[in-house]
Amino acid sequence: ATFADLGLIPALVERLEVLEYSQPTPIQSHAIPHVLDGRDMVGGANTGSGKTAAFSLPILQKILQQGESNARRGNFVSHLILVPTRELASQVAYNVKSYSYHLRDKIKTVAVFGGVSVNPQMQALRGGCDIIVATPGRLLDLVSSNAIKLDQVKTLVLDEADRMLSLGFTEELNKILALLPENKQTLLFSATFPEKVTTLAQHLLNDPVEVQL
Ligand code: AMP
Repeated sequence: ATFADLGLIPALVERLEVLEYSQPTPIQSHAIPHVLDGRDMVGGANTGSGKTAAFSLPILQKILQQGESNARRGNFVSHLILVPTRELASQVAYNVKSYSYHLRDKIKTVAVFGGVSVNPQMQALRGGCDIIVATPGRLLDLVSSNAIKLDQVKTLVLDEADRMLSLGFTEELNKILALLPENKQTLLFSATFPEKVTTLAQHLLNDPVEVQL
């Protein structure tokens, strides 16, 4: 199958051609149609599988199809991608921006993570954004200082959920989850499925599609 066969719109398919993504990876083929359908998902996937594009391309499509951007409507974020480390936050944000580089006037993506000054991140969030890629602790700091509000989130992605929990982010994660609206699409990706991750998935996901690769 091609990216277009999976249901992606030309604005994204054409960009993937520029990036020389000649065909979808297995996880992209399995995941993208269901994510476009609005289903919750639990995905078993490692780095290198192409999971970033699997969850971010449908999010970009949702933003484009909704028309008006939340980024213009105050300090809200519509789509939240939680990751365990700052390296992963940078890498995921870089990829998301590369998929939407030609749409950068329409789609605003901001990466927030600890270990660096908070001020540029607060500045970047001013006026809201469409997508945040965040580590849990720094995101909570920014919520506490009213730099961003989470009550309009439509999509939540938990990337590398196993590392998130093994690095001790359970408490931060629960605080964030409590701030999100009940009605949202949730996608959970993990390389391994220890009991903690399975329990989290059971609590968080609503009739999820399971993609195991
Ligand atoms: P990820 O597993 O999401 O970290 O992606 C691993 C690497 O594969 C990244 O550098 C992506 O840019 C690249 N990639 C993802 N999907 C494709 C694809 N369909 N064709 C070629 N490269 C891809």
